[in-house]
Formats: sequence, C-alpha cells, structure tokens
Amino acid sequence: METNISNLVIKKTNLPKRIPKESELGFGINFTDHMFVMDYVTNIGWTDPVIQPYSSFLIDPGCVVFHYAQAIFDGLKCFLGIDGRVRFFRLKNYFERFNRSAEALCIPQFDADEVISYLKELIELDKEWIPDSFGTALYIRPLIIARDNLLGVRSSKKFTMFIILSPVGTYYAEGFNPVKILVEENRSRTCPGGIGDAKTPANYAASLYAAERAKAKGFTQVLWLDSSEKKYVEEVGTMNIFFRIGDELITPPLEGTILPGITRDSVIKLAKKEKMKISERRISIDEVYKAHDKNQLREIFGTGTAAIISPVGQLSYKGRLISINNNQIGEWSQFFFDTITSYQYGKAEDPFGWISYLE
Ligand SMILES: *Cc1c(COP(=O)(O)O)cnc(C)c1O
Repeated sequence: METNISNLVIKKTNLPKRIPKESELGFGINFTDHMFVMDYVTNIGWTDPVIQPYSSFLIDPGCVVFHYAQAIFDGLKCFLGIDGRVRFFRLKNYFERFNRSAEALCIPQFDADEVISYLKELIELDKEWIPDSFGTALYIRPLIIARDNLLGVRSSKKFTMFIILSPVGTYYAEGFNPVKILVEENRSRTCPGGIGDAKTPANYAASLYAAERAKAKGFTQVLWLDSSEKKYVEEVGTMNIFFRIGDELITPPLEGTILPGITRDSVIKLAKKEKMKISERRISIDEVYKAHDKNQLREIFGTGTAAIISPVGQLSYKGRLISINNNQIGEWSQFFFDTITSYQYGKAEDPFGWISYLE
C-alpha cells in the first residue's frame, strides 16, 4: 500500500557537496546534501513535511530541548547490495521503536509508514552518497526535539522531527575486532522506573562520565550493571550484550532498563532458527567470572546497528582483567556477524522478511 505523500515539499540544493571517499568515511562525520524536516503543532498534528538542503537550524535559546532534554532519536542503516539494489534492514521495526520512545518522552505519535515514505524520497535524492563497499552503509538518524520556548517544566506543545543521513564506515577504530571493556562499579546509565528502554539523548548524557573515564584508562567502553544491586549485567556501552557460556547463549531480559535493540532481537531469532540454546535471563557479573574460572566462558559480544556485532576480547572487574577466547573473535560472534551482514548486502537470501528495498 502506497502512502500518500503529495503534501511533501522538496527543495533541492544548488550547491552539492563533494561526496567523501571511502577512506574519509569514519562514523557520522559527513552528512549528505539534504535532510527531512516536519513540525508538530497542537490541534493540527504533524505538518509541513519538507526535504531541504542540509543546513543549520535557528533555535531560540529558551527552547525546551536545550533545558530539559525532551528529545528522542533512533539509528538505522541502508546498504548498497552486491546486486546494486538499496536495502533496508528491519526498517519498520526501527520506526515503531521510535514511536515507543516518543511515548516515553511525552512526544506525539507519528504515522510510521508515512515517515518511511518521506525517508525513501530523501534517500532517493541522496542515493549517490550510499557507499558501496562491504562494511560501509548510509546511516540514518531520525530525531524529534521539543520546540516550545519557555523555562517552566512541562511537556512541549511544539516539536520538530528531522532526519539526517551520514555515509559511514566501521563504528569502532578496532573494526570487527575484539574490544577491551571496563565493568562500571559506581555509575548507572539508567534505573528501574527510568527511561532506559527509550532511545533518548538524556540516557547518553548520563553515560558519558563513566565512558570517558574508562577511555582514559585504556578501555573502549564500559559494561553497565543494574543500578540497584550492582550485580547483574545490563548493557555494554550503547550496545546490548550476549555471553556464550558452554553452549548456552545468554542475554539480559528486557525489564525496562535495557534498550530493546533490533540487532539483539535479530541475534535471538537467528539463534532460535539455528536451534542454539538461547536464554533471556539475568546474568550476574559473578556468574561471568565464575564461568571464566571454570573455562566455560567462551564468547562475549555486544550488538548494535552501528557495529552489528562487537566481540569483547578483554573484561576488567574490580581490578581483575580477563581475556575471552584469547582476545580473538569467537565462532558464534563471527556467525552472527556474517549472517546478518550477508542479508544486509544481499549475499544471502533473508528467510525472516527483514530486508526491504528502496525501489
Ligand atoms: C541503540 C542502542 C542499542 C542497540 O540497538 P540496535 O537497535 O541494535 O541498534 C543498545 N543499547 C542502547 C543504549 C542503545 O541506545
């Protein structure tokens, strides 16, 4: 079913930028020629969708989003397949999650199909920017920010949604290689009853202090424990986390403090299809270390759209540094990475219906 997008206004740029070479990609440092913008006003709803040249916004210093962080975002990718077709991975799932994040932050719901139609128009216009080698992609970043200008604390009545696009290479400098992780013993990213299951800038602000301190000590990221007992594992940096102990694959359950990752869900579904033993259950950091001491901890990896699979090679908790799988990529980590990317780049048939096309 085609969504009616006849109200969409498209203003093309007269000054196209130079498209970066593959060696210049990095992650999220280059932006394409155009962006999508749409406003929300009370009594009218979402209105005035426009695709316009990528440019700065003029925003009042009293704007609610600056003061009280009423904002949400999401992050997804599109890929140029080996057959030259532009592919999306679980496109609708990302925009459904974006709507769930909206609800958590008192931001009005939007029509996901309609926004997807606008997004496709945007990508069509900036199609030349989609990098073509394996491991690269066009990263899609939708955001909604509160736009009322006032200092009283209440939910805004005006909002702006925008989508920007960035051609990207690998997320970590390490690429698809094991990273070194520090277990955070004091700080928390979120808490029970908080907004840890919404993709909102506030959660990222809360995570920076611990992440920077870990980086200064030579680690790539932190591993978060639950905020109440500092006992159970929750996430790794901005990724979900999986442990392979013996032949059981374990990931913490979604209990409100963890972001429901699309990559996490994809790994779970793939594991079930392969008849692997997969458990969504609480796992304590003590259990992880005990499994290591018994030689049963075989793999740890993070999952997220940016890195897909990020193997954890070293872990440090209470001053004790351990190596996982001799700091090498594990067998299952490699399997999930290869399988998911084979669908994304059109190297293998996707049996789940996860792939959709630009045209
Ligand atoms: C986005 C995100 C993830 C990963 O989700 P994906 O849908 O797989 O990209 C995990 N944890 C946090 C905190 C996130 O923001």
